[in-house]
Amino acid sequence: MLAYDVFSAEKPGKRLLLLGTVHGNETCGYFAIERLRKKIISGELLLESGEITTVPISNERAFRQGVRLTEDNLNRSFFWSGDGHFLSDNGNKIVENEDVGNQFDMRAEMGDIELQKKVGQAPSSYEQERAKELARLFVSKDAEIDIHSQTAEGESYCFGQNESLELKSYLNALGTKNIIYGWDKMYPEGDFTSENLAEKMGILGTTVECGSHENPDSIEFAWRVILNALKYLKIISDKTYLQQFVQMDEKYRYQKISKNLRMIKMYRWIDGGKMTHDWKHLETINEGDVIAHTNSGETIIAEEDCLMILPNYHPIRNNEEWFYLAKIED
Ligand SMILES: [Zn+2]
Repeated sequence: MLAYDVFSAEKPGKRLLLLGTVHGNETCGYFAIERLRKKIISGELLLESGEITTVPISNERAFRQGVRLTEDNLNRSFFWSGDGHFLSDNGNKIVENEDVGNQFDMRAEMGDIELQKKVGQAPSSYEQERAKELARLFVSKDAEIDIHSQTAEGESYCFGQNESLELKSYLNALGTKNIIYGWDKMYPEGDFTSENLAEKMGILGTTVECGSHENPDSIEFAWRVILNALKYLKIISDKTYLQQFVQMDEKYRYQKISKNLRMIKMYRWIDGGKMTHDWKHLETINEGDVIAHTNSGETIIAEEDCLMILPNYHPIRNNEEWFYLAKIED
């Protein structure tokens, strides 16, 4: 059973969904969301308008085991819309199917699991079941944040699925050091991350990376992102924001304009491939630098000045994501 709370102000307003531990070992979101819940319940943090839905433990089984995932990557498993419809690659709801015609929608809605299985659209792992449950919470929301941490030390960042002024202004308000655009373009076969589901459902959504798993700063950073979102969406007043802001350690109080990064390319790993060294996340790569050697002996050379994004030092399976390249926007 998915545990969540809904906190509402008297006055109607924006509705925010907060997800923690979509990856079970990335606990900063759990601690920051728990802090928020306690402050609301104790009356220390008053809601001015709107509503907050909190899910501190999104991937419960992985969280209990202290691992990233159990059967599937939950953040690649958002295949269902909030009303339980299976989403095709382009995000459209499937209304026709060769085998079953347009009966599919009606019968699926009636909970015909066998039919869904027949067309390969029923959850086939714990994480997929969880994604389908979580998707229901995306319904009728205005904004969503999925809070993560990463293996390597590095600056905070969040992802933008489109470049509308509305989304850009929301992401800038969150206060991460970098905003990465174009992630979905790396997955032409379909992007099934939480923020992509938000995009498909017309919600301002993002995934925020708050620093390394081990670093307690990641919790403070996640907390700051939550406060910034609440202020931006006017769920808390400026006065309440300030009361919380002054309680923060000096080092988290900076105001910074985010840098915009654009994804250029993703490389997948095939057994035998080796990077020339353990490139750091966001490390600068100059045009002409040799980045890696593939299994077939080819050399991967930077075609332009760029940045290393999310290097995977220990790929296990062929075709696993190996690393991405991005460039800084002017
Ligand atoms: Zn993660």
